[in-house]
Amino acid sequence: MSKLIQRLTIIGVGLIGGSLARALKQADVCGEIVGCGRDEVELKKAVELGVIDRYAVDPAEAVCGADVVLLAVPLSAMRGVMESIKPALATDVILTDVGSAKVSVLDDARAVFGELPPGLVLGHPIAGTEKSGVEASFATLYQKRKVILTPLDGSNDDALSTVAAMWRYAGAEVVEMSAEHHDLVLAATSHLPHVLAYTLVDSLARMDETSEIFQYAAGGFRDFTRIASSDAKMWHDICLANRTELLNVLSHFRKDLDMLSVALESSDSEAILECFSRAKLARDHFSKLIAE
Ligand code: NAP
Repeated sequence: MSKLIQRLTIIGVGLIGGSLARALKQADVCGEIVGCGRDEVELKKAVELGVIDRYAVDPAEAVCGADVVLLAVPLSAMRGVMESIKPALATDVILTDVGSAKVSVLDDARAVFGELPPGLVLGHPIAGTEKSGVEASFATLYQKRKVILTPLDGSNDDALSTVAAMWRYAGAEVVEMSAEHHDLVLAATSHLPHVLAYTLVDSLARMDETSEIFQYAAGGFRDFTRIASSDAKMWHDICLANRTELLNVLSHFRKDLDMLSVALESSDSEAILECFSRAKLARDHFSKLIAE
C-alpha cells in the first residue's frame, strides 16, 4: 500500500525532529526517513535508536528525492539550511518546519526563494520539554498536543493536507492561523513565560544569599522555573526572532507588575486580592480545559 510520504527528510534530528520521526515510524506512514545534521556521531546514534533509516551530513544530499522536507533546526540556522537545500529540492517538494516563531522563518524563506514555493507550509508543534537532542526524543511527544500550521494564500492544498495528515498520524490536533497571529499568541503563552523564568532564576542566582535561597526553594519555585533549564541558545534565537511581539507583551506585563508593586507599597489589600483571585479563577479554568 502506498504511504502518506515516500521519503521524508528531517534536517535537525533533535528533540522535536526526532520525536516526529519516532511517531511516524510507529504509525508506519513513511517509506523512508532520512536524517541530516552537522554531528555525524548524533546521526549514527539516531540510526541505532531506530529514529531514522539513514542519514547524510550534506543537507543537499539529504533532501535529494524527498517528497517532504522538515526543517527542525534552531531558528538561527533556518536561512542557512534553506540556502544549502534550495538547488537540490524537487520542484513539487513539500517544505515544512517546526520553528517556534513563524514570521522570521517566512522572512528567511522569502530571502532565499524569492517567490515562495507552493509546497511551503510552515508549522509549530506546541509540545516540547526542557531537554534537547535525539536521545531526549520520544514517540508520544505530540499525542493530544496542538500543532499550528500557518499556510499562505498561495499554499498548495495537497501540501497542506499532507503536512496536516503527518501531524495527525503523530497524534496531534492540527489548527491553522496566520504566521503573524501565531507570533502574537505564542509571545504571550510561551515566549514571555520563558523570559520570566530565565530572568527570575538569573536574578536570584546573582543575589548574595543565593545558596540559602536555592536551599529553601520548594515546589512553587521548581514549578515556576522548570523551563529555565531549557536550551539557552534556542530560547535566545526564539526571543530575538519574535522580539517585536515579545516586547509588546512584556510592556503590557510590566505595567501590571508595576501596579502590583504600587498596591504592595500602599498595602492596598483589595487590589492585591483582586489580582490574585482573578488569576486563580483564570488558572483553574485553564486547568479544567487542558484536563478535558
Ligand atoms: P535540538 O534538540 O537541539 O535539535 C536541533 C537539531 O538541529 C540538532 O539535532 C542539531 O544537530 C541540528 N542542527 C542545528 N544546527 C544545524 C544546522 N545548521 N544544520 C543542520 N542541522 C542543525 O532542538 P529542538 O528542541 O528539537 O528544536 C528544534 C526546533 O524546534 C527549533 O526551531 C525550535 O524553535 C523548535 N521547537 C522547539 C520546541 C521545544 O520545546 N524544544 C518546541 C516546539 C518547537 P547538530 O548539532 O548535529 O547539527
